[in-house]
Amino acid sequence: MNVSQEPEPVQARPQSIATACAGMTIALAAGAVEVAVDVGHYAAALGVISASGVPEFEFNRALAFEIKKELEQFQIKVRLIGERGDYAMLHHRTRDAQGADLFVSIHHDSVKQRLLPRADEFSGFSLFISRDNPHVDRSLACASSIGKALRGKDFKASRYHADAELGESRPFADEANGVHYYDNLAVGRSARMASVLVEAGVIVNREEERRMRDPAVRARIAAAVAGGVQECLTRGKVLR
Ligand SMILES: [Zn+2]
Repeated sequence: MNVSQEPEPVQARPQSIATACAGMTIALAAGAVEVAVDVGHYAAALGVISASGVPEFEFNRALAFEIKKELEQFQIKVRLIGERGDYAMLHHRTRDAQGADLFVSIHHDSVKQRLLPRADEFSGFSLFISRDNPHVDRSLACASSIGKALRGKDFKASRYHADAELGESRPFADEANGVHYYDNLAVGRSARMASVLVEAGVIVNREEERRMRDPAVRARIAAAVAGGVQECLTRGKVLR
């Protein structure tokens, strides 16, 4: 996925209001919730090229629009980030999401270069959070909730990112729901709000790419992501 490498240092910040108020319980009215939905990659660096030659950015954008539609049905306000393909700097994405309750970055996955000849063996969704995010518990809660909702719609969590040989030894934060720790993840650690990166599926796998291009499958993924987000943000114990 290649989304972590950015030299920009993350500066320490004063304690946020949310952190200062930790322990209080405030039920959010659904209309008060805002989610930043980030379209991974940009025009000059389109991400993974799928098995049939379509850039990842196109998959990400189509899914992000669908997720926006689904979230709005829950009366959740959505701020799209990067849908015009003009965000080269990753920390500008999280900066421009300031004020949102959650940052969700949408991606589609690949495998290591040397494994590309075996790409059809790899499939499934993966979710990533950073322990350097100031709201790691909320990030994990939302990632788990998204993973659970995806599994509820018969999508399978991939395991290869956790594998030292096949993946990158990203430890599981919630193995059952496909959530990994990826501390150096730029959109995880630079976000001032909880943050989750979603790899919806492996588009270098020919069969999985066909599924990811199917509008009905995309709608199911979007409904699951939005349902998971809605569930975690309105659980009744979430603070702004
Ligand atoms: Zn990506």
